Amino acid sequence: MSSNTRVSKADYYEVLGVARDVSDQELKSAYRKQALKYHPDRNPGDHAAEEKFKQASEAYQVLSDGDKRAAYDRYGHAGLGGQGGFNGSPFAGGVDIGDIFGDLFGEMFNVGGSQRGSRQQRGDDLRFDLGLDFKDAFFGTEKEVKLRRMETCGTCHGKGTASSRGPTVCTQCQGRGQLRYQQGFFSVARTCGACGGTGQVIGDPCMACRGQTRVSSEFKLTVKVPAGVEEGTRIRYTGEGDAGRSGGPRGDLYVVLSVRPHDFFERTGNDLHCVIPISFPQAALGDEFEIHGIDGPIQLKIPEGTQNGREIRVRGRGVPHLNDKGAGDLVVKVLVQVPRKLSRQQRELVTKLSESLSVDNKPTSPGLLDKMKDLFN
Ligand SMILES: [Zn+2]
Ligand SMILES: [Zn+2]
Repeated sequence: MSSNTRVSKADYYEVLGVARDVSDQELKSAYRKQALKYHPDRNPGDHAAEEKFKQASEAYQVLSDGDKRAAYDRYGHAGLGGQGGFNGSPFAGGVDIGDIFGDLFGEMFNVGGSQRGSRQQRGDDLRFDLGLDFKDAFFGTEKEVKLRRMETCGTCHGKGTASSRGPTVCTQCQGRGQLRYQQGFFSVARTCGACGGTGQVIGDPCMACRGQTRVSSEFKLTVKVPAGVEEGTRIRYTGEGDAGRSGGPRGDLYVVLSVRPHDFFERTGNDLHCVIPISFPQAALGDEFEIHGIDGPIQLKIPEGTQNGREIRVRGRGVPHLNDKGAGDLVVKVLVQVPRKLSRQQRELVTKLSESLSVDNKPTSPGLLDKMKDLFN
């Protein structure tokens, strides 16, 4: 083996030294420990520590995100499609590491994150839950919905100030956003209270947004639901989330679908299932009749000698494939009804029939019955 064999990427749970069923709180605390230990501010010039710090940050970024964690749990690193990592630098890419640190460390470190010296911030992603009727999910639909989101203030055009000059440099921290002081061996930075770490202050706040640069406002969105969606399908609208702060990029909007159950059709994958009662004569002689499918009438053929519980598959009459041609099947399970009460005439007929029909009433193993059922299906 050559000495430069590529080492496969470290397992995120191992990097943080946590179990795979770690809780959010434990995850946070494990990450905090690692990050404190290997933070570049504490290990200047130590490349190994820097590497460990990056790994821990990357692991935390993935595992603290429910969707990414689920993808990673199922498919490993491949499940992240190159999106999980930081591509070398923990501060590169769209990851707002400043948020993680602001949250975790409060005022302990000078992180060099995206917040310092800039008021710009990406807007939040929004989630909207949309309930659909079973039929709407089957056929697809369009729904106009009203939502609220943060928009750039139209009065100050996102400057936050009443006059057109915009924010000015904070005199407390000279725009650095942080104040440094000595504590033991460490030089510790804390967020500047005067500007909240942005390095800028608004002396004459805009009345409309009170200096916040954004206002909450209502908007309408037409959600196009394709045919074949299911419970939990997410539709992403890039750039339709909250406006960014001070001219930062917009967040995204996720519409998450939930589907109300149908009275008698149930869905498994793209197949629809239902149960149809039939009479003993229909089962014995076979029959053909019409049933109401979701997408219109369906001609159902009961073959002669159909056993109770037999499933009849109607090809292509199930749920349409999402974003693709074709559809699943309709699976009709027949339930042979035994009459609870017979008229005298019926009783005579069944008695006559019974004289010519005989069943061996020997005990049979349940497994054998299953095999017989398969044979008939
Ligand atoms: Zn304003
Ligand atoms: Zn300041």
